[in-house]
Parts: sequence; C-alpha cells; structure tokens
Amino acid sequence: MHDKIISIKNRIEKAAKANGRDPALIQLVAVSKTMSAERVKQAILGGATILGENYIQESREKIEQIADDSVKWHFIGHLQSNKVRYTVKLFDLIHSVDSFKLAREINKQAAKINKIQSILIQVNLGGELTKFGTAKDRAAELAGKISDLPNLSLQGLMTMPPFFNSPEKARPFFKELRLLANQINELQLPGISMNELSMGMTGDFEEAIAQGATLVRIGTAIFGERS
Ligand SMILES: *Cc1c(COP(=O)(O)O)cnc(C)c1O
Repeated sequence: MHDKIISIKNRIEKAAKANGRDPALIQLVAVSKTMSAERVKQAILGGATILGENYIQESREKIEQIADDSVKWHFIGHLQSNKVRYTVKLFDLIHSVDSFKLAREINKQAAKINKIQSILIQVNLGGELTKFGTAKDRAAELAGKISDLPNLSLQGLMTMPPFFNSPEKARPFFKELRLLANQINELQLPGISMNELSMGMTGDFEEAIAQGATLVRIGTAIFGERS
C-alpha cells in the first residue's frame, strides 16, 4: 500500500508542476469505502492522512476501531438527514451538501456540539438524474443561504462528472466547477470561501489537477478494485 500511495503522490506532484501549481495545495483523500479497518490502518501506515468514506454505518465502526487522531475523515457519500448527527460528530469535512434542508440540519447538529462544521457544496454538472448534487444554476443561491448559518463553514465545491472511459472527456466538467467557484467567490458572501475544489478520482485526477482540484478522491488506485 505504501508503494501505491507514494506513486499517487508522485503523480499528483507531477500533474501540479506540469500546470504551474504548488503541489502542497493538493491533498489526497484516500477513499476507503468498503475496505476493512485493517486495510485502512495499512493505508495510514503507508502515508494516507485523509480518509474518505461514503456510508455512515460502516464508517462509524471503522473510525472507532481505528481511533487515530492523526488522520482526518471526510464524508463524500450521499447524506440523509437522519444520519447527520453522526456525520457531524465524526467527520472533518462533508463534501456532499446539496440542499438547504441538509445544510440546515448539519448546522443544527453542529451547534449542539459547539462545532463549526466544514462543508462543500456538491454540484451535479452533468445533470444526470442518477447523481446527487445541486444543479449548477442553484449553487450560488445555496451558497448564499448557507452563509447565514453560523455553525457551517463553506469552503468550496465538489463534483463527480458523468463516467467516461477517457479522462479528457471529464475536463470540461472540472473546468466548469472551477469557473462556478470563481463566480461564487465574486459574490463575496460573508463567512464563505471557495478555496477547495474536490474533483478527480482514480481515472481522471490528473485532468482535475490541471483544472484546479485541491482535493482528489482516490480509491481504486490505492486499495484495488472494490468487490
Ligand atoms: C468511490 C468514490 C471515489 C473513488 O473512486 P475511485 O475511482 O475508486 O478512485 C471518489 N469519489 C466518490 C464520491 C466516490 O464515491
């Protein structure tokens, strides 16, 4: 696992430099959904410092078993309102906020434990009905409403483009997310920043870095195929 993580980090660095970007501004989120606590521990030993999880039930147990304060946990899956309480307790960053209703619930649960919860807005740029995320033309409005919620810290955007078998095809979506973040930034909404762009997975992270990704979410290239 160590070798795989080193190799991914090298590819991140190379893609950053090829595009005139500082590699230090790009963080690797090791996506550990469906992987056992044992495998995740190996990844941590191998140099993973941020773990990405999709399912609350599964990650609650894993995070408890691993009990390692030196790593950060990011929630990247679809979030249901009734799971928000646990999510806020366990996760440093939630990538998948896509409605005001969900944002309000996160704000409420975060207030209960005196936490400022960091979040991203997930944007569905492909307009696919099977994918979660707010529509592109609703994202700025959602950001505006979120800026009124005191226990949320909105830090940027996340997207998952439609699946393509060649990474270049994802490029326009990555670019679109960056431009959308710029537009929202120009609104100068109080208390929000658009510094983070969560985009790029195993098959296309170098394209995402070329378009400005700051968080790449990589599972398969680290852990192998999920069964
Ligand atoms: C599973 C998952 C990933 C990782 O995908 P790989 O192709 O295995 O790198 C990234 N982001 C999200 C939201 C995921 O659900």
